[in-house]
Amino acid sequence: MIKDSSFNENILKTLDSFFADGRRPHALLIDGAGVEDREGLSLLAARMMVCENKDRTPCGECEHCRKAKEKVHPDIISITKPDDKKNFLKDDIKKMVADAYLTPNEADVKVFIIKEMQLMKEESQNLLLKILEEPPRYTAFILTSDNSNAVIGTVLSRVVRLRMGKANVTEYSEKAVAVTEKFIDAILSPYEYNRIEAAAPLDGNKALTAEVLEALVAVFRDAIALKSGGKILAEAFASKSRLLSDNIKPEKLLNMYDTATGLLRSLENNPNYNLLSAVLCAKI
Ligand SMILES: [Zn+2]
Repeated sequence: MIKDSSFNENILKTLDSFFADGRRPHALLIDGAGVEDREGLSLLAARMMVCENKDRTPCGECEHCRKAKEKVHPDIISITKPDDKKNFLKDDIKKMVADAYLTPNEADVKVFIIKEMQLMKEESQNLLLKILEEPPRYTAFILTSDNSNAVIGTVLSRVVRLRMGKANVTEYSEKAVAVTEKFIDAILSPYEYNRIEAAAPLDGNKALTAEVLEALVAVFRDAIALKSGGKILAEAFASKSRLLSDNIKPEKLLNMYDTATGLLRSLENNPNYNLLSAVLCAKI
């Protein structure tokens, strides 16, 4: 397990799972939290990709780890928009894609960190589709983005996603906080009707549904963590997480967590999905 005190344990665990059994994701999207967190985590992921000790990456001892840490590794290449422009330049993306077909200099893999995808227009994102679909085996991509859902669906379907979550509660709308809290109270009620009523505002409101699902994922995760003596990450919902942790069995909490993350994925892959609130109520 990676040790790095700048990131919370659950995020590191998720990142670690992408590298289990010597595997390496060919394209990873890191989104949420603040720009510095995303930058730090993308560099850590890049180190894990170039490290030569696949069984304990990043080992921190090999030449690749050392160069990556000093930010002088020739096979870790960051690209972003030019300082004087609002968005990425199409030409820069084309150059990067051409470069991605050339073999790495020193490591087994050449890693491109594409910083802040919310600054890349859709037509430029489209230029990435082919290489993300079928990258050379020695090429990997790490994309970062804020919470603005700026990454297009066809890119999303080609990456594994690591959500860092909202940086703090002010990023959730008031309405989302209210619906989430009401829904959690309804989970503890014996009447299914209460859950149906609490989830009703989600119908036909995709943005609100995405926010509430994200908040529920955070609360279920925290409730599970509390059971095993772990820390609460989503402070805003701390009292609700405690309530669930105290009243619901671990297996049930895990099921709820899986249901909420599964629904969140369905929502991203199928924007016309309309049965979410019904499924949410039926399964939780
Ligand atoms: Zn190493």
